Amino acid sequence: MSSAPLSNSTAHWRALDAAHHLHPFSDTKALNAEGVRVITRAEGAYVFDSEGNKILDGMSGLWCSQIGHGRKAIVEAIATQLSQLDYYNTFFKTTHPAAAELAAAIAGVAPEGMSRVFFTSGGSEAVDTVLRLVRHYWAAMGRPQKTIFISRKNAYHGSTMGGASLGGMAPMHAQGGLPIPDIIHVQQPYWWAEGGTMDRDEFGLFAANEVARAIDEAGPENVAAFIGEPIQGAGGVIIPPDSYWPAVEKICRERDVLLVCDEVICGFGRTGEWFGSQFMGVKPDLLTFAKGVTSGYFPLGGVIVGDKVAEGFIANGGEFNHGYTYSGHPGGCAAALANLKIMHEEKLVERVKFDIGPYLQERWLKLADHPLVGEARMVGLIGALELTPDRASRAAFAAEEGTVGLICRDFSFREGLVMRAVRDGMILAPPFTLTHAEADELVAIVWRVLDLTYAELQRRGLLVPVPRVGA
Ligand SMILES: *Cc1c(COP(=O)(O)O)cnc(C)c1O
Repeated sequence: MSSAPLSNSTAHWRALDAAHHLHPFSDTKALNAEGVRVITRAEGAYVFDSEGNKILDGMSGLWCSQIGHGRKAIVEAIATQLSQLDYYNTFFKTTHPAAAELAAAIAGVAPEGMSRVFFTSGGSEAVDTVLRLVRHYWAAMGRPQKTIFISRKNAYHGSTMGGASLGGMAPMHAQGGLPIPDIIHVQQPYWWAEGGTMDRDEFGLFAANEVARAIDEAGPENVAAFIGEPIQGAGGVIIPPDSYWPAVEKICRERDVLLVCDEVICGFGRTGEWFGSQFMGVKPDLLTFAKGVTSGYFPLGGVIVGDKVAEGFIANGGEFNHGYTYSGHPGGCAAALANLKIMHEEKLVERVKFDIGPYLQERWLKLADHPLVGEARMVGLIGALELTPDRASRAAFAAEEGTVGLICRDFSFREGLVMRAVRDGMILAPPFTLTHAEADELVAIVWRVLDLTYAELQRRGLLVPVPRVGA
């Protein structure tokens, strides 16, 4: 069969999809009325839709595609693995070569003092594993009252009951009776929207002190852990002030509260270090990973457990009554091993730190000169633009929050670039293999998209600044 889609296939797939497919994070009624986009193929930094449009994948799928799309070495590694051992579990005193090799390979790039890995099928399951593992750890250490988790408002930790509860997304809590008990959400380190009159570092310390205050109010003897993304991804690529993470680490240590970094986005090179916690200069007790570990070629995630917790847990924990059928799936482990091999051979983490990262950052940060942009920020290959009608006051638009973001996102797709909108900001996280020419093309599209958005807002009378509540 030819890879070119049949001329009527978009309508055909849309009809099947509308009749049978319930989409995650979507309003099915609105989506079916509009018609879903059908992506049929991907190559390098580009995806192609069923209408033949070539679109630059500025989001690496969903923050997954570190090595770019369509890499045959990964496909072959998965095929070879599945033809030898398609599936076997890792429960009941059993392992398989790929799971053992991958656990060692991950320990090899993990931060110092973190050498054990628990496998899951994705990030949400990894976060749920942390909840259960940490609570069981404290119980095993004779401190069963230490159960409370501190998290942040507007954090994203996945969409299972545990993950969505630990996350701080109000619209997610509003559905299904969340959060589960014993989770406290505190101030996020989001200076641009919530920093008010404080300077960045002052605000970073303020936000860190809110962690201390929550722990002290609950009683440190009742608090199991603090969890945070080194950089909040789905929340809008919120890069905390430099003062924030070291202060949070110190606060946790002083109170005997474990520090958990959710590295599902930041892990495996996104910031130019192997892990975002290294970029922030902190040492977590546990960290979660998924997405980039396989570049999205196969679902796999997990938890890296630091030696202090692992030793206590192994010595005193007995049987851990937890696991997933696909914990350490052979296909996922083979994909991750091949992905790590490519990342090492092509020095892709170094490339993010010293080459394509700085190259794109330089051009991205200049977007702050556009009249619609309040702030442009980027570290490694993860960045955001805050859109505002008035940079000086960091004002909001005279429209429901998110309206402008969606206008901008639609222009972006039309012009051939995937950017995601969060509130009235745009976020970006391209593959590590992005070339300089592709980075130039990306930034040129963004300038055009900002101009189109600006003209549209002018036409609709939406450029009137509205003071931001809470700032
Ligand atoms: C995507 C994400 C998750 C959830 O991962 P899934 O594989 O979708 O379950 C958890 N934490 C963070 C920080 C994420 O970005």
